[in-house]
Amino acid sequence: PEAITVQELANRMAERGADLVKALFKMGMMVTVNQTIDQDTAELLVTEFGHNIKRVSEADVEIGIGGEEDAPETLRLRPPVVTIMGHVDHGKTSLLDAIRGAEVVAGEAGGITQHIGAYQVGLPDKSKITFLDTPGHEAFTEMRARGANVTDIVVLVVAADDGLKPQTVEAINHTKAAGVPMIVAINKIDKHEANPQKVREELLQHEIVVEDMGGDVQDVEVSALKKTNLDKLLEAIQLQAEILELKANPDRPAEATVVEAKLDKGRGPLATVLVQRGTLRVGDIFVVGAASGKVRAMIDDKGRQVKEAGPSVPVEVLGLSAVPSAGDPFSVVENEARAREVAAYRQSVLDRKRTTSAPVSLENMFASKA
Ligand code: GDP
Ligand code: MG
Repeated sequence: PEAITVQELANRMAERGADLVKALFKMGMMVTVNQTIDQDTAELLVTEFGHNIKRVSEADVEIGIGGEEDAPETLRLRPPVVTIMGHVDHGKTSLLDAIRGAEVVAGEAGGITQHIGAYQVGLPDKSKITFLDTPGHEAFTEMRARGANVTDIVVLVVAADDGLKPQTVEAINHTKAAGVPMIVAINKIDKHEANPQKVREELLQHEIVVEDMGGDVQDVEVSALKKTNLDKLLEAIQLQAEILELKANPDRPAEATVVEAKLDKGRGPLATVLVQRGTLRVGDIFVVGAASGKVRAMIDDKGRQVKEAGPSVPVEVLGLSAVPSAGDPFSVVENEARAREVAAYRQSVLDRKRTTSAPVSLENMFASKA
């Protein structure tokens, strides 16, 4: 939904359109000043040119939601959150299904799977990986546009028989814009036309230097269809996660992000949230976007009722007053009065964004369309 022409962006940044086109070219995109680019690409450019971007949800810091940092001694390791991106038909859905399928077969839950927008897989050493199972860069971009940075690691899927395609390049740009490390899954290696080396060489043109080429981006040859090397891909993710030392304080009121939401006929508004810090419990009072509620029940990705969910755990929450949007911040607060206060504040921020004509800032430009 968010797009801006290169010229318009240049005007807002007080830079020359031609310089932006040149920078885009270096990023692997051939566009003219009159063509539109999406938000992440725009942000990447803005950052490249040394301007700052303020995200929408930073407004929450003003009212003491999500602002304060946790003391280092309260931090514990948490599982990585992974998003799979890549060109259409390169095998994102197949890969997500294959990874999850392996888990379901091996797991004790008896193969009951539920689509809640995210799932966790367990590794032999008992560590876990969380996958957001809304693949594609639209979801990633939409979430980031709303100030939610939930992804720790991007797995870029490239079909070995097709090579880099426009959406692959877009995905690379989104990932760079987000500052998120990438692992390349070279898929469809079962096909006889597969040419993984060509993929590695094409990646070089976008400054992605995989290990085989002397760089530090991990690449794994896989086949989602034949379920080849899925364990290697999971190991690569685990290794990347170790390097990142992802941590969160589990002992505090939960802060989470909505990854998916819907209205269920029988159960009312439902949201799958990904806990980012703290532990979410049944009975907690929360604000989500500009609505509030109380956790009536929680269901995990295996369809089981759970009483609590810690960092990096995705759960479906019942007890919302309205259906939120993907990317909405979900914060546990001390009581209902506080919940109403925060919800009202957020509503006023939304109203202001809708009515004021945007001054020269990216934040307003995109927030007004969010
Ligand atoms: P997406 O659009 O990226 O989600 O791609 P899909 O997962 O829908 O896959 C697109 C097509 O590629 C489907 O027909 C899949 O069966 C096929 N496909 C996916 N992975 C593989 C693979 O590893 N090998 C082969 N031969 N086909 C694959
Ligand atoms: Mg798909």
